[in-house]
Amino acid sequence: MTTSTLQRSLGVHRVLEPAGVLPQAAQRLDADPAIGPDEVRIAVQRINLDAASYRQLTEEHGGDGDRVRAAVLEIVESRGKMHNPVTGSGGMLIGVVDEVGPDSPLGLRPGQRVATLVSLTLTPLRITDGLARWDGRSEQVPAAGTAVLFARSIAAVLPDDLPQEVALAVLDVCGAPAATERVVRRAGHRPSVAVLGAAGKSGSLSLAAARDARAGRLIGVVRNGQEADALRSAGLADEVVVADATDPLAVAAAVGRCVDVTVVCVDVPGAEHGAVLTTADGGTVLFFSMATSFSAAALGAEGMASDVTMLVGNGYTPGHAALALDLYRRSRGVRALIEPRVRG
Ligand code: NAP
Repeated sequence: MTTSTLQRSLGVHRVLEPAGVLPQAAQRLDADPAIGPDEVRIAVQRINLDAASYRQLTEEHGGDGDRVRAAVLEIVESRGKMHNPVTGSGGMLIGVVDEVGPDSPLGLRPGQRVATLVSLTLTPLRITDGLARWDGRSEQVPAAGTAVLFARSIAAVLPDDLPQEVALAVLDVCGAPAATERVVRRAGHRPSVAVLGAAGKSGSLSLAAARDARAGRLIGVVRNGQEADALRSAGLADEVVVADATDPLAVAAAVGRCVDVTVVCVDVPGAEHGAVLTTADGGTVLFFSMATSFSAAALGAEGMASDVTMLVGNGYTPGHAALALDLYRRSRGVRALIEPRVRG
């Protein structure tokens, strides 16, 4: 592949500034809906804001839905993509394939309903309805507009058997169960696992994936008694404990004996030290949360003389979408925790 073919396949031709970077690192993208020969245009129906991004915007604007909506519109308008400048995160979207360039390798056909599995932080996006059908109070945003996929993007055709809101929520976090499954399988014989934010979407899917991967003791760490009750009745963990994930000593005390694998699925900053402290030497911490600080994790582990391997939760693992949807279909407990969040 020539350099220019590689650049096009990654969407570098859509970067307006600074020139030459990849679309994810760009300040601004060209969101023109006219596509090139290797691109695909999606007619957008619904956007799923990343949980950390939605929480940050809601907190910044004091829970005022109109201001949150205006902030999202302003980000998309000025950046040509939904890339929260504070959290650095985006989300994903669903829509209908509108036009497929003759050289697109994605195998999509006009009329298919798809979810984009690449982050909104690198997806050229134009919104045409002013988000008029959204009250600014949910992660899921009904929207009209266009998005562009590159040759190296990924999209999944939406399943017929699940409501689109559910599919969108599950696919948004499908990297978490896939990564958890891989880490647990590689961690040796029946490793103990703790999941922080265990009653959330990625947390519940990660617990179910860890169980499938033959984890040993499985601990769900949640924020309060209400989430603890919900997680207990979902039956996804052997032990459910309540602790503020941002309080390291509270997390360590609640979990007790250190675990082999810790998966961080909260949507707030500050969970790095608790995760490290509760993980045994030689163990692994998987940071799926987009609110994770690399420096806090690295320097915190050093400061605790903790010999843990720390992994950034890659949003992409081959087969991740099918794995997450399959877990959702098979696990009553996962459905019980995710459905109420999607219904809002
Ligand atoms: P979610 O469904 O909102 O779940 C987050 C959970 O964490 C909720 O149960 C929440 O409780 C809990 N929580 C919040 N603060 C807490 C605290 N201080 N102590 C204990 N628990 C706390 O979110 P999600 O959609 O699963 O997303 C989780 C994270 O994954 C986010 O940071 C998101 O950005 C990230 N993410 C990463 C990728 C990737 O590719 N790596 C992709 C998508 C999302 P409440 O509901 O009570 O607040």
